[in-house]
Parts: sequence; structure tokens; C-alpha cells
Amino acid sequence: MDFGRFGSAPSGTRIGFENGAVVVPDDPVIPFIRGDGTGPDIWKATQAVLDAAVRTAFGGKKQIVWFEVFAGETAKNRFDDWLPQETVDAITHFRVAIKGPLTTPVGGGFRSLNVTLRQLLDMYACIRPVRYFDNVPSPMKRPQDVDMIIFRENVEDVYAGIEWRAGSPEADEMIATIARLGKKVRAGSAIGVKPVSEIGSKRLIRKAIRFAIDHGKPSVTLVHKGNIMKYTEGAFRDWGYELAKAEFPDHTIAEADLGSAAPPPGKVVIRDRIADSMFQQALLRPKEYSVVATTNLNGDYLSDALAAQVGGLGMAPGSNEGTEHAVFEATHGTAPKYANLDKINPGSLILSGVMMLEYLGWGEAAKRVEGAMRKTLAQKVMTYDLARQTEGATEVGTSGFAQALIGNL
Ligand code: NAD
Repeated sequence: MDFGRFGSAPSGTRIGFENGAVVVPDDPVIPFIRGDGTGPDIWKATQAVLDAAVRTAFGGKKQIVWFEVFAGETAKNRFDDWLPQETVDAITHFRVAIKGPLTTPVGGGFRSLNVTLRQLLDMYACIRPVRYFDNVPSPMKRPQDVDMIIFRENVEDVYAGIEWRAGSPEADEMIATIARLGKKVRAGSAIGVKPVSEIGSKRLIRKAIRFAIDHGKPSVTLVHKGNIMKYTEGAFRDWGYELAKAEFPDHTIAEADLGSAAPPPGKVVIRDRIADSMFQQALLRPKEYSVVATTNLNGDYLSDALAAQVGGLGMAPGSNEGTEHAVFEATHGTAPKYANLDKINPGSLILSGVMMLEYLGWGEAAKRVEGAMRKTLAQKVMTYDLARQTEGATEVGTSGFAQALIGNL
């Protein structure tokens, strides 16, 4: 298949979608974006590790067929286009993609890849696993107690981008409409809108509960600010309980129905926590939390706060997932001052690759990379960001870290 300025896709098979699930061939074509700044360094490391893991896990029976596509500064320099349509087309067609960090140009007039893809492919879930690897420097006394996975709603809430500048005709019209509806907003205010829908909330919560059931997780916590925002955040919580009862009655039990009894074996406990209290709980009793499902803004804050507990963003993976599309990505930026120095930590992109292997159903390869990550860090072989805070560490560059991982697969 031809992708305009990028030429033909390499020969391999497109990931399919049948009966509500992706169908993964042994030779899936997966578009990738190296990314800007340090992106090429961490991409090179990631590709080497993922290929080696797939090779060792499946002895050549399976193989990812990589297809390079472009966005960000690299695309601007090459094609005078921050986001070529071919990139959007390739990801739409092949369904699964992985990307390094992209420069966000200052000033308007460009399309953001993340926002464009999120809307176009309706990738409504931002998923961030947060877990601790021994020896990673952390500000916490017991970072090993953190083992959570955040499902953050990705397209609604205040991130829907509906807001008007203070004093604009639109803001004034909204204020007048609100006055007609019997509520008062101070004249000249800026106005933002926070849409939270039943469909949007339920599909996100459904993904989180399904994940918990499939992975034997003990609980799903609905995090919300429903005590203050009853009809948006409060409704998110109510829809969550309603959905669990209606769609997963045999696999879930509400915390309130449990009383002081221990949860029956095999049942996922559904409970809710108010967002501010959840931030305290995450620090004081992280062990009690596992899967978290939350609205967009809460999830934004919570996932970075949790990532900081286990050693910062350099190690935090993430994905954007919809019904039949998924894009896996490094969660940090381009760290431009380290570009081409073979220096920064490729952990975030490599662990995003682990999420991708799991998504493909290639769990054996995913397990190997995760095991190699544990082993390499246990050996105190680390990039500068971790090594400088760790006594007795052996500091390696980006490629050296990848080689150490490959040796430990
Ligand atoms: P940044 O994450 O790029 O870097 C800030 C600092 O964090 C770096 O200087 C470095 O010291 C450290 N750091 C980040 N990642 C690291 C890693 N993997 N290993 C070791 N150290 C690491 O944030 P920034 O400087 O605010 O942003 C730079 C550019 O990246 C901007 O153009 C920004 O818009 C963009 N950005 C892109 C994404 C994305 O594509 N998802 C996310 C955030 C920022």
C-alpha cells in the first residue's frame, strides 16, 4: 500500500479487527515515529530491545515489520509539514503505532499529533501503569508498595477544549445564557465547559474493569470530585457502579455491599474515592490501590504524581487506546539538550513497548523485557539520571542500557 511522500509500506500484514477485538498476525506492520530531540536515541534502543525480545520469545516465528512515519520537527524539516496526512493515514490503517516524544512548536497554526489522533481515532483511554523497579531512586520510603494502573478518560472533561476568553462575545453570551438558567457568573469572566457523558464515562470504566478481571487485579477505584461537581464527576462515579452491576455482576462487587467481609475470591472490588483524598491515599496506603479509573483532569495530575513516587517520568510508559486503535508513547518530552549524546534513559519508551507487546497478545516477549529491566536495574546498570542518585551504580549511555537489557533477556 502506498503512503504518498513516505512511499510504500514494507511487506507485512495489517493488524485486523473482528468481533470487537484486534486480530494480530505473526508479521504485523507497525508504524513508528522516532520523535525529535533525544527521540532517535531512545527509539534506536527501544527497537533493538523489542526485536531481540520477540526473537528470543518466539524463535523467529513472529516479527514486527516496522514502518517509519514522521511527525513533529523532523516532519517539518523534511516535508514542511508538522503532521503529514500520510502519518495519520498509516496509523489509521495499521491500527497500532508507537512514538517517541515530539517538539511542540511555540505559537498556533499547527495540528498536534496527539490531539489529532486522539480525536480522529477516538482513543478515549489514556493508560499509565505505575510500578516500581528495585534500585530506582525514589523520594518514598516504600516505593515498592506502588503498583497501580491509571485509566484516564482522554477526550472529555475540561480537555475537550471548550473555553472562551474573558470579555469575548462568546463568554458574555454564555454568561447571559447561564443567567437565564438561574445561575450567576460574574460579568467579564472567562468560561470553560466540562462535558462528561454517560457513554464516554462508561466505555472508559468498562476498559478498566475488563483489564482488572483479565489480569486478576483486586480492585477498580473510581476517582472523582463528585462531592463538589455532582452532575459531572459525581455522575462518573454513579455510572461506574451502575456499569459494574449491569455488565460484570459475576466478576465484581461494590465495596459498600462488602461491609467488613473480605472480598470473595476472584471478585474485583469496585469502590470510589474523592480525588483529593486519593492523592493522600496514594502516598499513605498505596498498597491498597490497584486499577484506577478517572476523569481527564484528575487522571492527568494523578498519573504524574504516581510516576514521581516510583522514580520519575523517565521510566513511565503510556498508551492512548480506542476501540480498534492504540498508540504507545514515551511520556516525557524531547529533552533537547541531550539530543544525539546517547545519554538519556530509554526506559519510558521501552516500557511503552512492553505495553504494546501485551496489547498484541505477545505476553511472552513482554515478560522478557520487563524481567530484563528488573535484572539490569538490580545490577545497578543505569543511565545518568538514575546512576547519579545511586551508590555503586555503573553508568551507561542509552545504547549501553539497551545492550545490557538485551543481554538480560
Ligand atoms: P522534557 O521531558 O523533554 O525534559 C525535561 C528534562 O527532564 C530534561 O532536560 C532531562 O533533564 C529530563 N528528562 C526527560 N526525559 C528524560 C529521560 N528519558 N531520561 C533522562 N532524563 C530525562 O520536558 P521539556 O523540556 O519541558 O520539553 C521539551 C520538548 O518536548 C518541548 O517541545 C515539549 O513541548 C515537548 N514535549 C513533548 C511530549 C510528547 O511528545 N509526548 C511530552 C512533553 C513535552
